[in-house]
Amino acid sequence: MHRPLRLTIDRSAIQQNWRLLQERAGVTAGAAIKADGYGLGARETSDALVEAGCRDLFVSTWAEAEALGTLPESVNLVVLHGVGADDVEAALKIRARACLVSVEQVARWKVIAPDRSCDVMIDTGMNRLGLRPTEIDALEGLTIDTLHSHLACADEDSAMNIMQLERFRAVVSALPAKRYSMANSAGIGLGRDYSFDLVRPGISLYGGIQRPEFEDTIRQVVRVEAQVVQRRTIPEGESCGYGATFIAKQDTAAAILNIGYADGYLRGFSSHGSAFAGEYALPVLGRVSMDLVAVGCGAAPDLKDGDWVEIDYDLPSASKQSGLSQYELLTNLGSRFERRWV
Ligand SMILES: *Cc1c(COP(=O)(O)O)cnc(C)c1O
Repeated sequence: MHRPLRLTIDRSAIQQNWRLLQERAGVTAGAAIKADGYGLGARETSDALVEAGCRDLFVSTWAEAEALGTLPESVNLVVLHGVGADDVEAALKIRARACLVSVEQVARWKVIAPDRSCDVMIDTGMNRLGLRPTEIDALEGLTIDTLHSHLACADEDSAMNIMQLERFRAVVSALPAKRYSMANSAGIGLGRDYSFDLVRPGISLYGGIQRPEFEDTIRQVVRVEAQVVQRRTIPEGESCGYGATFIAKQDTAAAILNIGYADGYLRGFSSHGSAFAGEYALPVLGRVSMDLVAVGCGAAPDLKDGDWVEIDYDLPSASKQSGLSQYELLTNLGSRFERRWV
């Protein structure tokens, strides 16, 4: 069935971003592919990354681990939310490693799989998931593959980064594990002090730029395109869209595009977003609807019904336009897109 909106996802850009991040980190790079590969497709993403040489993949839940299907033997798949009371059966069945995040989960693991190795998350100040440094005695007797921590403010030059690094170093020297890992994408930008043995980039694999260090090096991965449903003229003095927030100062050519907030093009783009028809920039006029958005197309006299236009979805600039984070921009992308891998 024809779909009037599409994502074009650049496989080699994902691979190149991964290689660049690994080189920057100076250690092995894994990849966060949770949330269905940040909305792009976890299977296709993991295929591309494994082909590039990635051997450590991270998902949030056992359902996400299962959805990946069979991975090569050499690939480690880690479930970041660990093993809750409802996950025991899945954890024993699915070939993935748990990353335990609390004293309760550690106790559960010691009962269900005392001989199997696991990962552990240490909370160094984010207060989201992880054992506190004061709780590490509970880990006695476990075989830890990778000991993790996670940075709260790596996209900023915050004193919090150094504080977390120092807390993690103290745990690293007290607790034996095969490998240690702390940095997400932005953490890689903070420098090699944060690399330890393994880094866990996510957003920058998919084109996200969280720190100035990555400008001009991380490649955009996704292109968003929508078809014109109708070209029309908004008469001078009339409005366009819900709430009548756009009023035409003169007769205004508009293209009504087949994309809306149900596709993740959220209302933050109202009056702020833009699209391109070739080199012509087309500003969003008024509010984004559920399935439609109007753009001014006076600059593109030949644009007509059925033509494709490219939505400005360069992640840093789309983030500024919409007030959404680069993470939200990707993970919001809905199910109506045709997803094309090239
Ligand atoms: C999501 C996640 C990552 C990847 O973070 P990015 O900011 O997308 O690079 C790394 N580690 C953990 C624990 C995560 O939850």
